[in-house]
Amino acid sequence: MRPVERGNSPQAHDYENYRDAFPGLVSRLGAYCTYCERRIPTMLAVEHIQPKGLPQYAALIGQWDNFLLGCVNCNSTKKDQDVSLEHVLLPDRDNTAAAFAYTSGGEVVPAHGLTAAQQQMAAHTLALCGLDKGPSEVTDENGRIVAIDRYAQRMEVWGQALTSKADLAQSPTEGMRRMIVKLAQATGFFSIWMQVFDDDVQMRRMLIDGFTREGHFFGFPGTARSCFDANTRPVTPRPANGLAHGSKS
Ligand SMILES: [Zn+2]
Repeated sequence: MRPVERGNSPQAHDYENYRDAFPGLVSRLGAYCTYCERRIPTMLAVEHIQPKGLPQYAALIGQWDNFLLGCVNCNSTKKDQDVSLEHVLLPDRDNTAAAFAYTSGGEVVPAHGLTAAQQQMAAHTLALCGLDKGPSEVTDENGRIVAIDRYAQRMEVWGQALTSKADLAQSPTEGMRRMIVKLAQATGFFSIWMQVFDDDVQMRRMLIDGFTREGHFFGFPGTARSCFDANTRPVTPRPANGLAHGSKS
C-alpha cells in the first residue's frame, strides 16, 4: 500500500462540503484509490478515514486530515465501520510500504517481519477494505479469465510489470525506464511495480520519485519519500508527521 503525504490543507478552515476537497486530493495524491491502489479515472471519491456516518466523528466530516481517496469497492466495504486509528495501518501516517506484501497470485497479505501487533493491524486494515477477499473470476467465451475485481486486476498488473522487466533486461535504457514509469502510472498498483522490481534500485527510485519532462510530471504524485531510504527500502517506523497515532509501522 503506497505510503502517501497529502500535505497541509489547501484552505485554512475545514470544508463545508467535503466533496470540494476532491480536486485538491487528486492533485496531491493522483487518481488512485489509497487502499487498493487502482487507478480510478472516474468514480473515485473523497474517503473519510473515520466514517462520516458515525455520530462520534461528525466533527471530522470536513477535516482535510481525515480524507483519503477511495474507490467504490473499498468504500462500500469500509462504509461506516468504526476505525480506531491505533488499530489500523494507514498510508498517510504509517509506513504501509513495510506492512503489506503482494504476490504473483493476486494476493495482498501482511508482510513478513512485522511484530504480532503490527500483523494484527495489517490484517485488520485489509479486512476493513475487503482487500483480503479472494478472486471472483469470470471467464469469457474463449475460457480466458476476465479481470473483474481488484484481485484479478492485481494479477493482471503483476504480469504487465513482469513483461516490462523483461523488456528492460533486453533494452536497458533510460528511455525504457521512463516508459515503465508511465505504464505504472497508467495501471496503478504502485506496490506491485515496486515488488516486481525488488532487485532494481534504479527502477524503484524512479517509481518513488517519478520524473519531470517538458514541465510534466510522470509517476505517482504524493508518494511519501521519507518512507524509503537511499536504497529504496522502507524506513520503519515511518518518521512522525504530526498525524494522530502514526508511525506504528
Ligand atoms: Zn479501492
